[in-house]
Amino acid sequence: MMKNPDQFIERILEIISRREIVISDELYLKDGRVFERDYIPILLNDDLLGHLWQYRDITDRKVNERFSIIQRDLGFSLAATTTIEEALSQVMQSMMQIEEINAVGVYLINQQSAELELVVHEGLPDEFVQMVQRYKQDQAQYKIVQNGEPVYGFYNEIVENTNMVIPESLRQIGVIPIKYEGKIIGAVNVASRSSERLNFTTKISLEIIAAQIGGTLARISTENALKLSQRNFQLMFDTIDDFMFILNAEGKIIKTNPVVQRRLGYTPDELCGMSVLEVHPPARREEAAHIVGEMLAGRLDICPVPLYKKNGEIIPVETKVVFGKWDGNNAIYGISRDISERLKAEETLRKSEERWLFALEGSGDGVWDWDILTGEVFFSKQWKAMLGYSVSEIDNTLEEWKSHIHPDDLQIWLAALNKHFTGETEVYVNEHRMLCKDGNYKWILDRGKVVEWTVDHEPSRIIGTHTDITPRKLFEEQLRKAIDKEKELNDLKSRFVATASHEFRTPLASILMVSETLIAYQKKMDEIQISTRLMKIKEHVLHLTNIVNDVLHLSRIQEGKIGFNPNDEDLLKICLKIIDGFNSTIMVKGQITFKTPFKTLIVKVDSRLITQAINNLISNAIKYSSEHPQIAIELKLKNDELILSVQDNGIGIPEKDQKHLFTPFFRAGNASTIQGNGLGLSIVKESVQMHGGTVSFKSKPAIGSTFTLHFPIGVISDYS
Ligand code: ADP
Repeated sequence: MMKNPDQFIERILEIISRREIVISDELYLKDGRVFERDYIPILLNDDLLGHLWQYRDITDRKVNERFSIIQRDLGFSLAATTTIEEALSQVMQSMMQIEEINAVGVYLINQQSAELELVVHEGLPDEFVQMVQRYKQDQAQYKIVQNGEPVYGFYNEIVENTNMVIPESLRQIGVIPIKYEGKIIGAVNVASRSSERLNFTTKISLEIIAAQIGGTLARISTENALKLSQRNFQLMFDTIDDFMFILNAEGKIIKTNPVVQRRLGYTPDELCGMSVLEVHPPARREEAAHIVGEMLAGRLDICPVPLYKKNGEIIPVETKVVFGKWDGNNAIYGISRDISERLKAEETLRKSEERWLFALEGSGDGVWDWDILTGEVFFSKQWKAMLGYSVSEIDNTLEEWKSHIHPDDLQIWLAALNKHFTGETEVYVNEHRMLCKDGNYKWILDRGKVVEWTVDHEPSRIIGTHTDITPRKLFEEQLRKAIDKEKELNDLKSRFVATASHEFRTPLASILMVSETLIAYQKKMDEIQISTRLMKIKEHVLHLTNIVNDVLHLSRIQEGKIGFNPNDEDLLKICLKIIDGFNSTIMVKGQITFKTPFKTLIVKVDSRLITQAINNLISNAIKYSSEHPQIAIELKLKNDELILSVQDNGIGIPEKDQKHLFTPFFRAGNASTIQGNGLGLSIVKESVQMHGGTVSFKSKPAIGSTFTLHFPIGVISDYS
């Protein structure tokens, strides 16, 4: 020891400045402090004079160093991690290395549930883990994280109003949000059992570590997603049943999937660099190139050109293309789907449809197939032919169909369809008339059934058939007419029996009475008396004969048994002859006038029938007139008809009787005192009808009647 302390210190400083340190070590004290100790021997001319120990407190430096190491190590290990779990547990381990930290829990926000979920943890008591496993968005813990700033302090300082029992080991806590690109993705929660607040360095370290994890997690997720999509792509590429081509911008094949190689019969090497057009049939390569161009321009969706195998065989496909990248360069992805099966199925369907169409059409029926939603209707060839049209002459629309249905039948057609659409009828059946190309109507039996429905159970498609039932309908019509006729004849006969019993009884009774008188008193009678009675008998017999003749004549006409022999006759002459005949009788005495613009009128008529008809009309006019009949006959053309009218000034016909006038044996109420049998007008009507004409009349009681015969103009052969 030197006596002079100043001298001593000077000496020490000199020794230190020479820095001849022999040993240097670190002393770790129990209280956590670290001292660096240097030993410097004090020499004088190689003689050891003494020892100098120099102590320095390096606790802070040591802690910083340690944190740096922790951070560095974490940086290295995170860079190498590939899973999120691994990265998180690395972070957790690093934090656990910090002396003050006794527990760590890492939370991440679950993308699906949007909850904060505890992913890894260490140092937390099990029962506590149960309670802090997850936090919902409205919970205080979640909100702290959401604030985005680290928070440190005693548990109940940070989380207010908590009724959780906090373990001893979690006295001090820190919540450090994990962020990535400004977005909060989770949080690291740390806890310390120390009653002192976490020191500054610890906090900084925790925050630096938390900052590292954000980026790492994002990197791992991206890498995982990429790997997954690469894996998925490869898997799809290898296992898909479709043909996959990746082409460069010039259309050369860069890569193909095994399907291409296997089914087209090329090796991958052969395919590589080949123009994609070479896997299309030579004759259709130009077309394929054009279509692909159109597809890439967005104007077409699908290329229908088939693929061409190495051995020249063809595979029908539908190809789609999209632009993309391959190894960083522009590329075209082509996916071709084999449609052989579909084509086969379509072909089978077409054939089966053809078969039933053929079967139906072969039977003479037409087929229709109506898409109710679009109003489009398929009409088969036979459907159109039935109405006399060729295939191209009828449009495939509902309107076209409707326009051919007889207007009077449209309603029943619609009603029948509706009944089927609403499920009221199992099958749709309707008979209606359809307009043919030649303007005539045909009777059609229309049958159909709904075969498809919409999701709302509305009928969407109905198919059916057309059968020509015109011959049947005509037959039915004839049958109906025949039945009517038969009925008419029966009526006639029963009326005849009724009338005859009445009409015959009176003359027969007279004849009987007169003949009995003759037999009993003939010897007492003179010749005149006898002949008067014989004349009476003759008159009655003639009357009876007339009735019988008229009845026979009428029933013959109605049964179609009377001969109809039309010949060119001059109707003018016929009329004049009849009129002259009547005018020469005492009763008429020239009261019949005749008016006509014709000089000659040659018509095709049966003279016998027509003479009888005119005769009947004139004799009625005379019969049902007063003692001075005024009868005007006119023959002229009017409204495209040839008209013959007979007008009288007689008793007329009571209104109520007019509608029965042409019924055989019918006689008007005011005619009972005038002789007649009610058959004359019926005979007129039938006779005129045989010529294609009709009879009409106008009458007013006590004023007179006009009966008119109407003949079609066609009966006229010539006139002047
Ligand atoms: P008929 O004269 O033998 O009774 P028709 O068939 O010729 O039978 O006539 C039927 C009925 O029509 C007659 O009974 C008569 O009532 C009425 N009738 C026909 N022509 C005339 C006429 N010119 N004037 C008034 N009534 C007539």
